Amino acid sequence: MDQNAINNLREALAHSPDNIPLRLHLAQSLAQLFQYQEAEQEFKAVLRLSPQHKDAKFGLAKAYFHQEKYGVTIVVIEELLHLDPDAENYKLLLCRAYLRNDNKAEAQQAFQELVRANPTLRDEELDQAFRNFHFDASADADDGIDEDALRSSRPGINFKHVGGMDRVKDEISLKIIKPLEHKELYAAYGKKIGGGILMYGPPGCGKTHLARATAGEINAEFISVGISDILDMWIGSSEKNLHQLFEQARAKAPCVLFFDEVDALGASRSDMRQSAGRQLINQFLSELDGVDANNDGLLVIGATNAPWHMDPAFRRPGRFDRILFVEPPDQKGREAILQIMLAGKPLGKVDLSSVAKKTEGFSGADLQAVIDRCIEDKLKASFSTGIPDPIATKDLLKAAKVHKATTREWFNTARNYALYANESGLYDDILSYLKVKK
Ligand code: ADP
Repeated sequence: MDQNAINNLREALAHSPDNIPLRLHLAQSLAQLFQYQEAEQEFKAVLRLSPQHKDAKFGLAKAYFHQEKYGVTIVVIEELLHLDPDAENYKLLLCRAYLRNDNKAEAQQAFQELVRANPTLRDEELDQAFRNFHFDASADADDGIDEDALRSSRPGINFKHVGGMDRVKDEISLKIIKPLEHKELYAAYGKKIGGGILMYGPPGCGKTHLARATAGEINAEFISVGISDILDMWIGSSEKNLHQLFEQARAKAPCVLFFDEVDALGASRSDMRQSAGRQLINQFLSELDGVDANNDGLLVIGATNAPWHMDPAFRRPGRFDRILFVEPPDQKGREAILQIMLAGKPLGKVDLSSVAKKTEGFSGADLQAVIDRCIEDKLKASFSTGIPDPIATKDLLKAAKVHKATTREWFNTARNYALYANESGLYDDILSYLKVKK
């Protein structure tokens, strides 16, 4: 296929503009020649003639993806998945778009589903991002962690990509970043370096996002591990694997080792199937203490939505000795988050502060959902004209109106723990957020 062939196709189409197979062929040919912007126009033209045309939609999604328009890629693929929920190629593109759009949690989840459905799946970019989740599901648990499987990444985001969260950023800076930059000063004052940070709070409020950005901020490797993955996947030799995981992270120092759902290590969980054995907890604690190893340059960050399930032993000095409440973003924070999330999208004159005002209680993930919904509506409207209509304040407000904040439910549970199980004021931050008097 070359430019000549494209010209011939265009000529043929001039005579029969409604010929769908021909126009699709033109669109796909343009994409093959990396002319994604023109391909986008032609795929849209096909969709105007046949709105549910799957190949045209998928072509459009890929054309968007290659133009780095990840938000709309996601919207189109999600529509496609309604039509064909099991298509691996749709899911793969969705997963890659999530990743590039920095929707890490969604990308990770989508990736795990893909690998579960097809354990032989290989995709360089996703393997790179999710390392240890990518292994042969049939592998013998005793084999431990596959060297290859634990590939870390250097995140392309830093604190600038995190809206609000100033208090948590300051704490991380003091506890993690400054010690790395000023080792001698800390030594001079006899201040020990080390220990981890534990972030807790309602889901979707940026714990994972900030952990990634922390690694990016100091140009460190980032390894993210879901505890339940350790429990599920390597049952039988979890302690050995946990040790290997720490060893590999140490070898990559400076490295941020991020443990999501760290509460799954809690001894107080009633659901034992989801919970670790005592041995695994002890192993985790001794890795944190670094008794047999040097934890220099190893930065451990844990996150949990259910801190009350965690064993108090985790909170001793040198372990997770900074426990930070990550609250839903305040109005200023929401405005900053919206600003970050809308960067690069077709925007009219948008009054973000009024959108922020109307989204009380929304998490970062909620705000992302509002934007996705808004873009979906705009995209549908633009199919008929073929021209992207800029997003306006009213579009965002409309999308926000139908979305329910997801953080409230968490506070219903958290309030009880904060009121009745608030040992040594651990959850005072929750009470002051809720404006409850002690
Ligand atoms: P948590 O780990 O607290 O459950 P995440 O960090 O996974 O939440 O956040 C979900 C998504 O919301 C992230 O992928 C990110 O895109 C977005 N997000 C959340 N908080 C922020 C923030 N403060 N700034 C920018 N994006 C955010």
